[in-house]
Amino acid sequence: MAEVPQPPLRHLLTLDDLDAPALHNILDTAAALRSQQSFAPPEHSRTLLNLFFENSTRTRFSFEFAAARLGLRVLNFDVEGSSITKGESLRDTLQTLRAMRPDIVVIRHSSSGAAAYAAEVMGEAVAVINAGDGFHAHPTQALLDLMTIRDHRGGFDGLALAIVGDVRHSRVARSLLQGLRVLGVADLRLIGPATLLPSHPEALGARNFTDLAEGLAGVEVIIALRLQNERMLGASLLPSAEEYRQGYGLDHERLGWAAPGAFVLHPGPINRGVEISSQLADSERSLILRQVENGVWVRMAVMQMLLGGDAA
Ligand code: ASP
Repeated sequence: MAEVPQPPLRHLLTLDDLDAPALHNILDTAAALRSQQSFAPPEHSRTLLNLFFENSTRTRFSFEFAAARLGLRVLNFDVEGSSITKGESLRDTLQTLRAMRPDIVVIRHSSSGAAAYAAEVMGEAVAVINAGDGFHAHPTQALLDLMTIRDHRGGFDGLALAIVGDVRHSRVARSLLQGLRVLGVADLRLIGPATLLPSHPEALGARNFTDLAEGLAGVEVIIALRLQNERMLGASLLPSAEEYRQGYGLDHERLGWAAPGAFVLHPGPINRGVEISSQLADSERSLILRQVENGVWVRMAVMQMLLGGDAA
């Protein structure tokens, strides 16, 4: 039977619309861009608008670097200096910005669903990329994690992977689990205190563990997460950061509980001495800076995909 052609993707809000070949295609494009290292100068410049309602170092600058390498012009929307402080609604802000005709809007917002809302307001006129919405999704983070794992391991066959920490509030975990499931990874473990684990891990294709040693046994890739204090809304989900470290903080000794040669990723920002020791974060068993580097390549690949292969 002839393959039904997929319509080109207009927005990247989650990994929902990407099957395994589409995911590999983005990772292959990112890897090709990485080996190419130089890019044709643009004939006419497109514009990327960064709309960050939540703080960011890595994601925001990664989009800036990715856009700059592709010859896009980058504009950063300054939330604090905008009419949002005068009470303008998100809808009016988005409509105003749409009227100025950016080509891509990258949005980060504390509300789950904000990126989908932005895509609805922007319509087909603008490509919207979700740079993290509440607890919900962070698709480009998942893509850079997948690229880093694939680079390091050569693929996903037989992979056992654990995510350690505040999975309940983590959009990074949700998007990554989705991508790993699509790529056929079956041994997915979530490790942390019960208050920070999802109540239905099976819906994410994963299993919960409250014991670190048990959860890490035989695992090759470990994703450490930051405690998302800003999303705990004052609830007392943990006695203290120190107790968390005692139970779940990763260091070289505990890495020994995982498979030989296991390595650690972390989406950042890291809290040294809480979820990961400084020695481990800075060691050759940590791929944290490789993730940062790959973030730029996958975001370039995503922009090319959304702009129809011709980013410049
Ligand atoms: N930078 C990631 C995010 O925005 C992870 C974190 O903040 O802990 O979700």
